[in-house]
Amino acid sequence: MTQLNKHQLIADLARVNQRIDVASEQYQQFNKPRLLAVSKKHPAAKIKIIYEQGHTEFGESYVQEALAKVKALSDLNIIWHFIGPIQSNKTRAIAENFSWVQSVDRMKILTRLNNQRPESLPRLNVLLQLKVGDENTKSGASQNEILSMLEAAKNMKGLQVRGLMCIPPPSSDFDEQCDYFLEVWNFYQQLKTANSEIDTLSMGMSGDLEAAIKSGSTMVRVGTDIFGPRV
Ligand SMILES: *Cc1c(COP(=O)(O)O)cnc(C)c1O
Repeated sequence: MTQLNKHQLIADLARVNQRIDVASEQYQQFNKPRLLAVSKKHPAAKIKIIYEQGHTEFGESYVQEALAKVKALSDLNIIWHFIGPIQSNKTRAIAENFSWVQSVDRMKILTRLNNQRPESLPRLNVLLQLKVGDENTKSGASQNEILSMLEAAKNMKGLQVRGLMCIPPPSSDFDEQCDYFLEVWNFYQQLKTANSEIDTLSMGMSGDLEAAIKSGSTMVRVGTDIFGPRV
C-alpha cells in the first residue's frame, strides 16, 4: 500500500470521528456512540493501519473472508463483530471467532450460537436485528420475535443479548432517516427498562450516522466513509 493511501485512510477515519463529535454535540448526545469500522471487502493491511490509530473494533459481513483476516491479524487485540446475514452452517465459525454478533434475527441462529460458543471464551455479545420499514427487507426480526428471543436468551449461558441492531431502508432524507431510527429507539427503550444488561443500540452507517446519533444510537457502523468504496 502506498504512503498516499495510508494518509488518505487516516484522514478519512479522522473525518468520520469528527462527524460523530459534531453530531453528538449538535444533538446533545453526551454519551457519544462508539464507532465500528466496517472492513468487509477491504484487506487486512488497511485494518492494521486503522488499528494503529488506536481503533480496535471492526465489523465483517462474510464468514470466509472474515476468518482469513481474523487469522492474519491474530497478533492484534481486535474486537471482531459479525454483522452480515447468518446461515446455520456458519454459526460455529462465528461463535468461535467473534466477540460480537449483531445480525441475529431468528431463534434457530441464537440457539446454535449459544450451543457452539466455546466455554473457554467469554459470553458472546449478541445484538438482535430488528426489521425496520415495511418494504421487503430480507433480514430482521419483528418486535414480537425479538421479545421471544430475549426471553429465551435468559437461559443461555454462552451468550448475552446486549441490544438491537437495525438497517433501515436507504433514504437520503434526514427526517425520514430519523423516523425509522426513532421507531427503533422507542422499542430499545422498552427493552432497556425491563432488562438491565441491554446497553447497545447499533444504528447508523456512512449515509445516515447523523440522523442515527440524533435518534440515540450508541454505536455507528461505518464502512465506505473510512475505507473507501468496496470493490
Ligand atoms: C456494510 C455494512 C455497513 C457499512 O455500510 P457503509 O454504508 O459502507 O458505511 C454497516 N452495517 C452493515 C450491517 C453492513 O453490512
